[in-house]
Amino acid sequence: MTGFISFSGNPLDRASERRGDAAWLAAQTAAGLFLPFWQNKPLVFQDRTAFLPWRSTWDGAAWVFLGLDGTQPLFAVNLPGESEPVLGSGAFQEMRACAFVLPARDTAIAGQAKALLDWHKRHGFCPNCGHATDMADGGYRRLCPSCGAEHFPRTDPVVIMLPILGDECLVGRSPRFPPLLHSAFAGFIEPGESMEDAVRRELQEEVSLKTGAVHYHASQPWPFPSSLMLGCYAQALSRDFQIDGHEIEAARWLSKDEVRARLANKIEAEMKLPATIAIAHHLIKDWANR
Ligand SMILES: [Zn+2]
Repeated sequence: MTGFISFSGNPLDRASERRGDAAWLAAQTAAGLFLPFWQNKPLVFQDRTAFLPWRSTWDGAAWVFLGLDGTQPLFAVNLPGESEPVLGSGAFQEMRACAFVLPARDTAIAGQAKALLDWHKRHGFCPNCGHATDMADGGYRRLCPSCGAEHFPRTDPVVIMLPILGDECLVGRSPRFPPLLHSAFAGFIEPGESMEDAVRRELQEEVSLKTGAVHYHASQPWPFPSSLMLGCYAQALSRDFQIDGHEIEAARWLSKDEVRARLANKIEAEMKLPATIAIAHHLIKDWANR
């Protein structure tokens, strides 16, 4: 049983069969609610509770279609400018911090919006011929008017894996992590690689660990900027490992008892395990509790 994974469980009907219809989409904008973003940060209202303060106008900025919440059409807009727009209700907050305070459905919707808006910001020109491209299908396609090429929003698959052997799992830390954090290992899947191949290659590269069977556990959309984290367990063939010193600066085998004690904050010395918004937390916890 997997606990709830942040950014997953998006409740919207994306209406993919209708969003290519310009007349339908225009009618949706007339009744739409709009979530403003500025510099990749969603507008968030936070007092005793936090929520996304949807607005009935879109301030003239270009919008993308998120989907239907029941019958209510929802959109996101990217507000331009160097200085933070003042909108009267809420403030623009970093997406990662939002995931800790927003309700689960709002986190998932804001994550979808961020990934989509961010893709448009970075894909204004055709990679085929260099001409400026136009948005289509409410934001789910870009068209090049010069060479006719179509471009679709990207999702980049990343493997994130916990090596296990008997009653122990291996966790490691990257020099980029906050102090003391130890987590599962991760890396982008490369062209021509299966998920299982990528898991075994990354563990060989980062910690010289030989692994055999790989089992998929759960996935997580991770909008930084557009990843899909594929959570896996990798069966280690021995306890021997050696850190590479670049991507990984420390690693340790942990027993199930120690993991459970750390997750319950009964042991806090020397290391921290990942926070609940990370799928690595669920990989570690679900293994320790089975
Ligand atoms: Zn082109």
